[in-house]
Amino acid sequence: MQYYSTNGQTPEVSLQEAVVKGLAADKGLFMPKQIKRLPDSFFNNIQNLSFQEIAFEVAKAFFGEDVEEEALKQIVYDTLSFDVPLVHVNDNIYSLELFHGPTLAFKDVGGRFMSRLLGYFIRKQGQKQVNVLVATSGDTGSAVANGFLGVDGIHVYVLYPKGKVSKIQECQFTTLGQNITALEIDGVFDDCQALVKSAFMDADLNKHMNLTSANSINVARFLPQAFYYFYAYAQLKKLGKEKNAVICVPSGNFGNITAGLFGKRMGLPISRFIAANNRNDIFYQYLLTGEYNPRPSVQTIANAMDVGAPSNFARILDLYKNSHKDICAEISGCTYNDDQIRATIKHVFDTHKYLLDPHGAVGYQAVADNLKEGEVGVFLETAHPAKFKDTVEPIVGPIEIPAKLQAFMRGEKKSIELSKDFETFKQFLLNE
Ligand SMILES: *Cc1c(COP(=O)(O)O)cnc(C)c1O
Repeated sequence: MQYYSTNGQTPEVSLQEAVVKGLAADKGLFMPKQIKRLPDSFFNNIQNLSFQEIAFEVAKAFFGEDVEEEALKQIVYDTLSFDVPLVHVNDNIYSLELFHGPTLAFKDVGGRFMSRLLGYFIRKQGQKQVNVLVATSGDTGSAVANGFLGVDGIHVYVLYPKGKVSKIQECQFTTLGQNITALEIDGVFDDCQALVKSAFMDADLNKHMNLTSANSINVARFLPQAFYYFYAYAQLKKLGKEKNAVICVPSGNFGNITAGLFGKRMGLPISRFIAANNRNDIFYQYLLTGEYNPRPSVQTIANAMDVGAPSNFARILDLYKNSHKDICAEISGCTYNDDQIRATIKHVFDTHKYLLDPHGAVGYQAVADNLKEGEVGVFLETAHPAKFKDTVEPIVGPIEIPAKLQAFMRGEKKSIELSKDFETFKQFLLNE
């Protein structure tokens, strides 16, 4: 499969090049040239398939031309070594729990898949040492770092905004050592993302080292996120609840929802999507006005969604050929402030005995406020509430910390502090 750039100013590239480069030379995002429709027979039988079986069929549609079937199967099965259960919350509302992986957030899916695919290219085609740059608003860094930990031929640099991720999130990528370096940037997430993008565009750095990105700008990170939309549908179908299904995605950089939109293009019968924002509601404003006005992000308690210039917006525009009308026909939006998020966590815990994390709470509330008669709503529970202990405990009281998280918290933090100035960052990498 060839991949084109959303900016259309560079030639198409192979999957390997798209994965290793991360971002196209014209600063566009790579898009697969084709989005294959899966056959009716697949959807008719989907409720009888396992998560791994479903994911493998979806993976073949994207990567089947470029990765041998057995190797691809291995990558998919290895990646999805945990379940993504659909859990009933109340009425017609279900939570798709994406936090059962090693770092307890949905980014484990893309992080693990990408690390394995890159490892495959390195082994098979003698790709030289690859340096992965990843900007994180909290959860990407840990998923990517843990996915790549100890993989030969790969070094990971995690850039994160100093003081703006939760303590638990921070220890998941600052305590690992080995081939993982944590860079604490004196700025906000958007500064980290800008540093990564500038690094890719910098000729000296590219001469010095082989750079790639593991943010959702990378096709190997974001396409695999389509897997669990299909699995959510399969689980709804098993319950006889698949008609008029609406999926709500708590969104920041918009990689996750874009993967769902790809799923719909592949034939997945989802009637519509809701993109739920915190106060960084650039996309919501776009839906209202037709104008895209990125602005500096503000800090919220749903910090992994504190994004002021969502990268994957370019992919959504491309997918809908810039038609605001077509985008509005399939996606609606919502926005909630911190007080509303807290109130949702409290209400859902008290009334329905279900503990939401701040991101999932944004998703739940958007479904609760928007579901129409006869629709069934699924919101993505994107991270485990214990990752946001300091926010959640004052609302609901003491919560249990899963053993997986406690293990991370015992490690010693190691990070390098840098300013948000690109020259400093560049010199640091040139000295590596
Ligand atoms: C990254 C993240 C999001 C936002 O996902 P995008 O793909 O960036 O839109 C939402 N919730 C959590 C917990 C996250 O880690």
